[in-house]
Amino acid sequence: MKKIRITKEFKFEMAHALHGHDGLCKHIHGHSYKLFVTVIGSPISDIYSPKYGMLIDFSDLKRIVKDEIVDKLDHALMVNSLTSQKDIEGALTGVLPLRIVSVPYQTTCENMVVDFADRIKPELPKGVSLHSIKLHETATSYAEWFASDNE
Ligand SMILES: [Zn+2]
Repeated sequence: MKKIRITKEFKFEMAHALHGHDGLCKHIHGHSYKLFVTVIGSPISDIYSPKYGMLIDFSDLKRIVKDEIVDKLDHALMVNSLTSQKDIEGALTGVLPLRIVSVPYQTTCENMVVDFADRIKPELPKGVSLHSIKLHETATSYAEWFASDNE
C-alpha cells in the first residue's frame, strides 16, 4: 500500500518564560507560534467509506490538534512547573485575567514538540501514525520532532 503524508498548519499566540535562563527569555514574553502536524499512512481504500481516498479527514486532524493543543495553549502563559504561582503573581502586579498552563519542562519549542507528539499520538485513528511535528517560535526559528528519530 502506498504511504502518504499529509500536513495541517495551526497558529496560536502564547506567552512563556524560561525558568533560570541566562538571557532575555527569562522574562515573560509571547510568540506567534506556527505548528505543522504531519501524519502518515495509506488512504482509505473502501469505496463505501465516506472518507474514501483520504488518509484522515483534514477536519478530524484539525479537531484533534485543536482539542489537545491549540485550544489549551492559545492566549495562555506556559511556565515550567519549577516557576511557582508566587513568582508569576510577583511578576504580574496587575489583576489581569491570566490563563496559566504549568508543564513539567522548560517551555522551549524543543520540549513543546515532544509534549505535542505525546498528546496527538493516542488520538489518531487506526492506520494513521504521527510522522512529524514542526513548531515555529518565530519566522526563522523552529523545532521538529520526527517519529523516525524516536523509534
Ligand atoms: Zn520565547
